[in-house]
Amino acid sequence: MKRLMLIAASLFVAAPAGAFEYMSFCEDEPTGVAWNFEEGPLTWHLSSTHVSTDLSEDEVRSAVLGAFNQWNEPACSLVPSQQGVAIAAEPFDETVDEVVIGFHEDAWPPSLGAGLLALTRIEFDATACELFAGDIAVNGADWTWVSGQPDGKDGEADLQAVMTHEVGHLLGLNHTQLGGSSMNFPYEYSLAWRTLGCDDSGGICDLYPSGDASCTDSAYCPCGNPCEDGFCDGLTFEDIEGECWQRFLPEESLMETEPNNATEDTVPFQLTGGDVVLSGSSLDCGNDGLQPSADLDWFNFDAPCSGRVFITLEPQAGDADVDLHVFDDTEAVADVQTRDTGSIEALEVEIGEDFQMLVYCWEGSATDYELRIQYLSPGEKPIFPVDEAPDACDCSVGSRPAGGAFAMLLVVLGLSRQGGRGRGVPSSPSA
Ligand SMILES: [Zn+2]
Repeated sequence: MKRLMLIAASLFVAAPAGAFEYMSFCEDEPTGVAWNFEEGPLTWHLSSTHVSTDLSEDEVRSAVLGAFNQWNEPACSLVPSQQGVAIAAEPFDETVDEVVIGFHEDAWPPSLGAGLLALTRIEFDATACELFAGDIAVNGADWTWVSGQPDGKDGEADLQAVMTHEVGHLLGLNHTQLGGSSMNFPYEYSLAWRTLGCDDSGGICDLYPSGDASCTDSAYCPCGNPCEDGFCDGLTFEDIEGECWQRFLPEESLMETEPNNATEDTVPFQLTGGDVVLSGSSLDCGNDGLQPSADLDWFNFDAPCSGRVFITLEPQAGDADVDLHVFDDTEAVADVQTRDTGSIEALEVEIGEDFQMLVYCWEGSATDYELRIQYLSPGEKPIFPVDEAPDACDCSVGSRPAGGAFAMLLVVLGLSRQGGRGRGVPSSPSA
């Protein structure tokens, strides 16, 4: 079943002052529909057929990137996004699954609402509480797009300001009544919308909580939680449990102590859920490469959460052939057993709250080493300790779920210009 719903005038709906609004509530949860970033970042595409005649492709890209970057400013949220290749499609083409951003330059389709600046369309599954598709159409027929302070009298509008507002819709936020917010309506012919206010930050942190309460500015903390001493005062994340990627705690440094050559005789390292750097010393080597060293370094970990991690083992001695194994409750889940000397061992693996690692050496000099555990957020690429960057993740969230009967809604939100079509002087843009 597919329903079409137009809410271009939703700003007239009474809302408590200062409270952000969701585009749509989830069916069974008291929260709004949101993108699921577990499989990768939101990938957006510029239309190659519907381009701006006012701004260059670089200027348009810069405006869209600026908009997404702004929504990533609050540390309390995580909104991974990336630009995909340009797509030869009109925005709002329902046969195209990808998120397309494009301009109507010859004529703005009357069906989209006369005189609007831009429109955002989203598709979501309220039962699954997920957004899974969307597009942004920009009205280049009735508006002149600029990059910088617009002159409202000439029907000019700053693309980055309007994009920040529209990307807010794309991410699941509706209009708010609180002034100083990008999601506050109407457009003020200024650059103000380029920058989030505390209500925008509260909304995005509610939909995509990262678990990180750090901050540089109160505008990037939810209203009522001002930035003090580098943290949003009083901000808590009661809804987040169990996944380390959401914590982003400071890196922990731990030191291995001998003897730790069996799983049983090691007291577990009590982790807090952040990244870990573990220094190991004097791993015995000196074998012929056919037998592992008698010195087995076992590490037992007790973490408060599970997660996808990137583990690297870096021996200090260039001729040491070290191996790394990872066990989840004594079940081997991953290992690297290369026979190269002097190489950094690396693996990406999903680990639970209790896990073990084994480090040992086959041949070469006795060596100190560094063991790093990096917890990865969805879509986050591992940071390799040297120049050998790992293969880029080819993943995207902007695709329609395969199969299944989705209760799909199509919601269109936009901005209406006072007086509708035309380029007359806006007396007071307060539609
Ligand atoms: Zn809007």
